[in-house]
Amino acid sequence: MRQVEPDQCRSARVGARAGRGRSGPRLFDAVLLDRDGTLVEDVPYNGDPEKVRPVSGARAALDALRAAGLRLAVVTNQSGLAKGLFDEAQMRAVHARVEELLGPFDAWLVCPHDDADGCGCRKPAAGLVHAAARELGTVPRRCVLVGDIGRDVTAALAAGAQAVLVPTPVTRPEEIDAAGWVAPDLPAAVTEILRRQAAVVPREPRRAGTVLVVRSDSAGDVLVTGPGIRAVAAHADRVVLLCGPRGRAAADLLPGVDAIIEHRLPWIDPHPDPVDPDDITTLTTTLAAVAADEAVIFTSYHQSPLPLALLLRTIGVHRISAISDDYPGALLDVRHRVPTGVPEPERALSLAAAAGYALPADDEPALRLRPAPAAPSQVGPPGYVVLHPGSAAQSRGLPPELAAGIVRTLTAAGHRVVVTGGADEAELTAWVAGDDAVDLGGGTGLAELAATVAGAAAVVVGNTGPAHLAAAYGVPVVSLFAPTVPFGQWGPWRVPTVRLGDAAAPCRDTRAARCPVPGHPCLSRITPREVLDGLALLGVSPARTPTAALTPAGEAAPEVATVGGSGR
Ligand SMILES: [Zn+2]
Repeated sequence: MRQVEPDQCRSARVGARAGRGRSGPRLFDAVLLDRDGTLVEDVPYNGDPEKVRPVSGARAALDALRAAGLRLAVVTNQSGLAKGLFDEAQMRAVHARVEELLGPFDAWLVCPHDDADGCGCRKPAAGLVHAAARELGTVPRRCVLVGDIGRDVTAALAAGAQAVLVPTPVTRPEEIDAAGWVAPDLPAAVTEILRRQAAVVPREPRRAGTVLVVRSDSAGDVLVTGPGIRAVAAHADRVVLLCGPRGRAAADLLPGVDAIIEHRLPWIDPHPDPVDPDDITTLTTTLAAVAADEAVIFTSYHQSPLPLALLLRTIGVHRISAISDDYPGALLDVRHRVPTGVPEPERALSLAAAAGYALPADDEPALRLRPAPAAPSQVGPPGYVVLHPGSAAQSRGLPPELAAGIVRTLTAAGHRVVVTGGADEAELTAWVAGDDAVDLGGGTGLAELAATVAGAAAVVVGNTGPAHLAAAYGVPVVSLFAPTVPFGQWGPWRVPTVRLGDAAAPCRDTRAARCPVPGHPCLSRITPREVLDGLALLGVSPARTPTAALTPAGEAAPEVATVGGSGR
C-alpha cells in the first residue's frame, strides 16, 4: 500500500490518485465514524480539548483508510449542546484536537439536538448518514459506518449504508447480537473494510469465451448471486446459467444471462430424490453441449461445489472456480475462500474477482434485475406498502397473527397495504389481508411479484426472496429477520433497512427450516407498532408517496450542524 502524508493531502485527493488505473467496482467511497467511544474514549459531554484520548491504534487505522482513497467523516450526536453543557466554540476546540491527534476528516456532521427534539438527524435517525454522504459527494450505500452502539448501526442501515459495530463495555449485548458486522476494535474494523473492498477487484483480470455459471437452490439465492454473474458477463462472450427449479423464475430476471439450464442437483436440493444414474447422464450431456471454456460455481457457505466440479472435469471444462473450504484436489483451478459474515452478494462478487472478473466501473455493486412488467392493476398507484408474510421456510415466515396485526395497524395509520404470497399461500394472505388490504396471494408469479415490489414505498418481509427483490429496486425494507442464518450474510443488501426481531433467540444460527422453538419467539414478540415506527425511520409516511426510495423521503434536508475541521 502506498504511503501518503495525510497532513499534506486531503483524503479526497488521495482518492482521485489511488483510483486511477484500478479496474473494478468500489464497494465503499467513504467511511463514517462515530466520535465518542469509537474514535476517542467516551468522556460524557466533553467540552475540554485536554480530555481527548484517541482509542488505541486509531491514527494508523485512519491513515490506512486515507491511503486507500476512502473519504472520512465524523457523524456524532452531541446533545450536550442542547443541554447547554458546552457551547459550539468548545466543541470546535475538541474537534480541532481530534484532528491534531488523528489527522484531517473530510466532513464533520453533528446533531446538536436531544431525544425530545424529535429531529431527523439524531442517531438512530438516518439524517446524519444522508448528510455525510451528500457532503462527501457519494450515496449512503457506498458508505460504511463504524460505531459503538446500536443507534449507530440502526442509523446506517436505515440510510442504506453498511455498519460495523465495535463494542465497548457500554454496548448492550442485544445490540451486539443484532449487528450484522462486529469487529473487536477500530483497527480490526478498518482491516476488514479494506479487505472487503479489495476482495471484489481481480488481481489478474481476464477475458472469457463461454462461461458456465452455477447457482442452484431457491429464488433468493439466485437473486443475491446476480452481481457476481454480471461481473462474469461483463468480460465473457456468452454466459450460461445452471440453476434449479426453485430458482428458475429468479434466473429469468437476471441481466447478463444468455441461456438457462434448469436441473435439480441432488447434493444441493433440500428434498432430493435418490441419485439416478440416468439423470446424471442427462445433466452431463446437457452441460457438455454448452462447450464452456470455464465454469464459476457459486454456492452458499454450507454447500459444496465439488460434486459438480468433478462432473465438469469429466466433460473437459479446463478452468473451474469455486469457494471451497474442503480440500478440492484436482477439481478446482481457482479455490477461493471467504470468511463467515460477508454479505452473500459480496461473497459472489469476490468469487468472480478471484476467477478474474469484476463489475465494470459503471455497474453499481447492487442487486439489479431486468425491467419488471406492469404490476397487477388491483395494487393501485405506486406508494403502497407490500407485506409478504410467508416463506418457503416456515422458520423465516411471519407468525400469521402478527402479519394480520401489521395490516390493521398500518392501514389505520393511513398506509395502503398490499399482501403478497406464493401459489400455496393464498389462504394465508387472504386471512392476513382481511378487508383492509389488497390480497395478491397465489395470484402472482415472481415477475409480477417483482413488479409489485418495484412500485412499493417499502416492503415488510421476513428473510426471504421479496427482501432481495426490494433491494434490487432500491425499495426500503422492514426486515422481520429470524436469526436462523446470520443477518450480515442474508440481510437486504445496500438498501435502506430496519431490522426487527429477537436476534438472540434460541433458533440463532441453526439454519432450521421449521422454527425449533415453541411460539416462534424470534418474530412473534415483534409488535405492529414497531413496524410502523420502522417505516417512519425509513422516511415512509402514509401521507404521501416518496419520489425516490434512496432519499430521505419528503423531509427537507435535516437540520444538521456541519462543523468544519481544520482547513474548512
Ligand atoms: Zn438532530
